[in-house]
Amino acid sequence: MWPALPVSLIATTLALAPVRFDREKVFRVRPQDDKQANIVKDLAKSNELDFWYPDATHHVATNMTVDFRVSEKESQSIQSALEQSNVHFVGKRAGRQKAIFMDCGIHAREWVSPAFCQWFVYQATKSYGKNKIMTKLLDQMNFYILPVFNVDGYIWSWTQNRMWRKNRSRNRNSTCIGTDLNRNFDVSWSSSPNTNNPCLETYRGPAPESEKETRAVTAFIRSHLKSIRAYITFHSYSQMLLYPYGYTPRLPPNHEDLAKVGRIATEALSTRYETRYVYGPIASTIYPTSGSSLDWAYDLGIKHTFAFELRDKGKFGFLLPESRIKPTCRETMLAVKFIAKYILKHT
Ligand SMILES: [Zn+2]
Repeated sequence: MWPALPVSLIATTLALAPVRFDREKVFRVRPQDDKQANIVKDLAKSNELDFWYPDATHHVATNMTVDFRVSEKESQSIQSALEQSNVHFVGKRAGRQKAIFMDCGIHAREWVSPAFCQWFVYQATKSYGKNKIMTKLLDQMNFYILPVFNVDGYIWSWTQNRMWRKNRSRNRNSTCIGTDLNRNFDVSWSSSPNTNNPCLETYRGPAPESEKETRAVTAFIRSHLKSIRAYITFHSYSQMLLYPYGYTPRLPPNHEDLAKVGRIATEALSTRYETRYVYGPIASTIYPTSGSSLDWAYDLGIKHTFAFELRDKGKFGFLLPESRIKPTCRETMLAVKFIAKYILKHT
């Protein structure tokens, strides 16, 4: 029996190294005529395109939405080829100097938050080329979207404990698990009470940016700081639109501008289902916080930073019924689109 051993060892090794897709791209193109359809087919001959829709090259036709995945290595040349031949694709590169960073699900149990990030991506890709505003936004700006900030915490909330909030890091000298990622940012870290005990829901972690998740996000934002004009983070619940600061009652220099955006965005949100939101600085509108992503992004230099506390106001709280997810996403989209339009025009 022993000769079988090397085979099983190989199988184990393979199982430990799953395929990764870092920095790969999925293009969505819409050939306008036969010539453009043939350009896509030709690209498929000379590059490794993984067709998602349709499932094979020969189905590609005029006016069809075509999705394909390309490797990081090939994505630049594919993009240039599409641009040169004027093939329409989602998120054309030309002229995009501004960007918005959005994250969802920093707190595990706030399930409607990751739902919104997915909804945003779904709507953006679905309405590109059809909806005038969305097409303009995607043509002229980059949207960086992190759909689930706190991955292990989120999974834990689905599998073990629906009310889990923190990530799942082990803590030294404590049997209590997890750091509150929204207290872990390097901004007035540890200044508010109830953040130094690993057994509390608001534990700040052993050091600023001690957590992998925080470090990944801060590294990305720092390296794209030149283009990122707005940072938007999604939580639930309480129907609020918040801006800095959380760690001080002091108002940020452009608070009038932030209040104006907050007012119009919440008005836009309420037009669909008359859902009422309040807006204002974190400290006076919800409660003082330290080490939050919002304050960190603001003090880093992103002058338009917002946190949504999505539905509801506490009747269901984190357990928002499924039937409310889509309406929540639809109305929130109106506010986010307004903010994006504002950023495009005024920053
Ligand atoms: Zn939260």
